[in-house]
Amino acid sequence: METKRPTVPAAEEILGGYFPVLDHGFVSLVDYMGSDEDVESAARVSYGAGTRKVSQTRGLVRYLRRHRHTTPSEMVEMKFHCAMPMFVARQWIRHRTASVNELSARYSLMPLLFYMPDVEHFQLQSRTNKQGREGGAPPEVYREAVERWERIRKQAGDTYGWLLEQDVAREIARIDLPVSTYTQWYWKIDLHNLLHFLTLRVDRRAQWEIRQFAGIIAGMVKRVAPLSYEAWVDYDLDGRPLTRGERAALSKLLEADDAGVRAREGAALSSDELKALGLSPREIRELVEKLRTPDHPDFELDLSVMRTAEDVAGEMYEAVPSSFE
Ligand SMILES: Cc1cc2nc3c(=O)[nH]c(=O)nc-3n(C[C@H](O)[C@H](O)[C@H](O)COP(=O)(O)OP(=O)(O)OC[C@H]3O[C@@H](n4cnc5c(N)ncnc54)[C@H](O)[C@@H]3O)c2cc1C
Repeated sequence: METKRPTVPAAEEILGGYFPVLDHGFVSLVDYMGSDEDVESAARVSYGAGTRKVSQTRGLVRYLRRHRHTTPSEMVEMKFHCAMPMFVARQWIRHRTASVNELSARYSLMPLLFYMPDVEHFQLQSRTNKQGREGGAPPEVYREAVERWERIRKQAGDTYGWLLEQDVAREIARIDLPVSTYTQWYWKIDLHNLLHFLTLRVDRRAQWEIRQFAGIIAGMVKRVAPLSYEAWVDYDLDGRPLTRGERAALSKLLEADDAGVRAREGAALSSDELKALGLSPREIRELVEKLRTPDHPDFELDLSVMRTAEDVAGEMYEAVPSSFE
């Protein structure tokens, strides 16, 4: 009997399509295996038939995520073709629970495509976050940065081309290409680890550039496994674990029982009182942050920008050093 691979129409619509990211990058969903129903089926195996009546797919998927029962979501896999600047790739590759095949600059000619930040994201060093940026940089600094980058990249690209012309091995010729150079890879990961990646990389503490890639991937997950995506938003992305000190603080402000949750009359906590409960000044700032309404995009993909594999390959081909076309 012929068995047909189960498909998800919303995922099929984008399968093999290329979504541009930054100036020369992209993410494409090359393949996927499974969806929310596979998470449910795997969980049913472990819970047994007796739980069937409570296992409406949505309720079960949400229960699993809330209670960190994660292995059922490892049954779903997604495979991507992505191109990103090397400095983004270095952050991305730290996620060890994926399978990766990167373009070999020992074997292939590198397309000379370099990331140029746009003026909006060219910012000054953050005063509060050593790993962040804030505010606008003076336009003349941006202009000069672009000029300097263009000069360095031209020189690096020319040297790369010259070394290749001298028949120097590709693995040596490539060593001074800057980390703004685009690389590409196939990346396959299961849904559990992908959601962990997204939690860390759509977060505003992650570098803006990698966030752009994570946002597109989140939009793809939304299409492949919409119930898992929804549970991830509710329990991981917009959820926050409470520390012992934070729980102690909240229980001074609120009382809760089966009848509901009520504010304690006249209850308030100053920062000194929070400190007395064991919260450091930084933890107090983090508590304030946790209680803010989360602010993130809805990760809906814009299908009007989707390109074909041929369009993308054309751009890559044109960027290979000219004497080797
Ligand atoms: C905002 C931000 C800033 C960062 N800054 C830095 C930095 O300054 N310097 C730096 O080096 N890194 C930095 N990182 C990278 C970070 O420390 C992690 O390496 C990266 O986010 C991958 O996370 P992970 O290990 O949880 O993911 P994965 O590698 O996908 O692993 C998933 C989970 O599997 C388990 N696991 C995987 N491998 C092992 C193992 N060998 N042993 C035990 N458990 C394992 C862990 O539970 C882990 O959480 C930063 C990350 C973020 C998001």
